[in-house]
Amino acid sequence: METSRSKELFEQAQSSIPGGVNSPVRAFKSVGGNPLFINKAEGAYMYDEDGNKYVELINSWGPMILGHANPKIEEAVGKAIKNSLSFGAPTSREIEIAELIVSMVPSIEKVRMVNSGTEATMSAIRLARGYTNRNKFIKIEGCYHGHGDSFLIAAGSGAVTMGSPDSPGVTEGTAKDTLLAPYNDLTSIEKLVEANKDDIAAIIVEPVPGNMGCVLPNTGYLEGLRSICDKENIVLIFDEVMTGFRLAKGGAQEHFGVTPDMTTLGKIIGGGMPVGAYGGKKEIMDYVSPQGPVYQAGTLSGNPISMAAGLTMLTELNENPAIYDQLTQIGAKIRKGFEENLEKLGLNYTINSLGSMISMFFTDVKVENFEDAKKSDTAKFGTYFHKMLERGVYLPPSQFESLFLSTALTQEDIDHIITSHYEVLKEMHS
Ligand SMILES: *Cc1c(COP(=O)(O)O)cnc(C)c1O
Repeated sequence: METSRSKELFEQAQSSIPGGVNSPVRAFKSVGGNPLFINKAEGAYMYDEDGNKYVELINSWGPMILGHANPKIEEAVGKAIKNSLSFGAPTSREIEIAELIVSMVPSIEKVRMVNSGTEATMSAIRLARGYTNRNKFIKIEGCYHGHGDSFLIAAGSGAVTMGSPDSPGVTEGTAKDTLLAPYNDLTSIEKLVEANKDDIAAIIVEPVPGNMGCVLPNTGYLEGLRSICDKENIVLIFDEVMTGFRLAKGGAQEHFGVTPDMTTLGKIIGGGMPVGAYGGKKEIMDYVSPQGPVYQAGTLSGNPISMAAGLTMLTELNENPAIYDQLTQIGAKIRKGFEENLEKLGLNYTINSLGSMISMFFTDVKVENFEDAKKSDTAKFGTYFHKMLERGVYLPPSQFESLFLSTALTQEDIDHIITSHYEVLKEMHS
C-alpha cells in the first residue's frame, strides 16, 4: 500500500501542529506507524491522500451513522449556508431541534445546545453541582467524558481514596473533588457515597462504555446506580455522547429502560458538525443561566449550519426506526463472522457488542471493566490494525475504542471485513 503522501503531510504537520494532529488518537500512537491523511469520503468509504480506499468502521467516531456525504444532510447544510453562517441570536431551528430531542430522549425535558461533547459534560457537572450545592462527583474508571479538567483524573490507591491528576496542568485541588469507581461495581459506589455523605453532586457514567473498548452493563448495574442516586439525592448523568441516537433513537437509556436525571449528547447530534448538548429534568435545567444562577454560554452555540445538519440527521433517525434494526443486523453479522473466525482458528479473544458498537479484545478474560480491558495485548492489536488497514479496512486506531458501524455498509463490505479479519488473524497466529 502506497502511503507516501500521508507520510509527507504528517512530517510537514509536525512543525506547525503539536504532534501533527488536532486530536491525539489520530496520530496512531497506540498502534504505531503513520496516520493517514484523508481527502474525501462517501457512503461507507474513505479515501486517503494517496488515493487508497478504505471501508470505514470509525465514521468520524460516530457521527456518520448514515455513512458519509448523506445527500439529505448536505442539502440542508447547503440551503442554510446561503442565509449566513452565524447570527449569535436565536433562531426557530433551535426550537425545532430542541423539541425533537425532547421527544426522542426519555430523560430530557429541556436541552441546551453547546459545541462539543466536552462542553456538554463540563456544563452538566457544573449544573449538577450548582443544583445540589455539593462539590464532589463520581466518575467511572475507563469512561471518557472529554478533556475537561475534572475528568482527567486517575484512580488513587484503594477504592475510597480521592483521585489524582491524570495530566499535567490539572491541579490537585480539582482532582480531590473527582471520586473514582470501577465500572459494573455497585459496592464501590456505595462505599464512596457512604464515605462522602451529602458531598456528592453527581454520578456520571457512559451507560455502555465505548471508550475502554465496548463494555456492557451487567444486569442491574444501571438500575443500581439509579436507586443509589434516588436515595442520596445525587444527580445521575448518563454521558450518551457516543450511545445517544446510536443504540436506539432514545440512546442507551431507552434500550435499558433506565432514566437518568441528566444526559449529555454529542457526535451524532451534529450530523458531522461540531455540536454537543446537555439536557434533563426541567427543574434541573432551569438552574442554567439566564433562567437560573449557573452560568454557561457559547458564541457559536446553536449555530444555524450545525443545527441544520443535526436536525436533518435526527429527523432521519426519528422517522425511520428501521435504521436501528439495520444497524443491529449489521453488528450481529460482523460479530457472528468474527466469532466463527476465532473458532476456526482456535483463538479465544473476547468480543463485546451491542447494536452497532463492537470491540474485539486481544485477551481471553471476560471484559467487564477497565482493569479487564487493560489485560489486552495492545501490541497484537497494533499488528492486527495495520494488517486490516492493508486490506482496506479502517478500524479505530486503538484497542480501547469501539467500532462505529454505519447503515452504508453493504453485504459485500461486511463479507470483506469478515474475510480480512480471518486472513489477518491467521497470518498473525501461524
Ligand atoms: C467523544 C466523547 C466525549 C467528548 O466529546 P468531544 O466532542 O470530543 O468533546 C465525551 N463523552 C463521550 C462518551 C464520548 O464518546
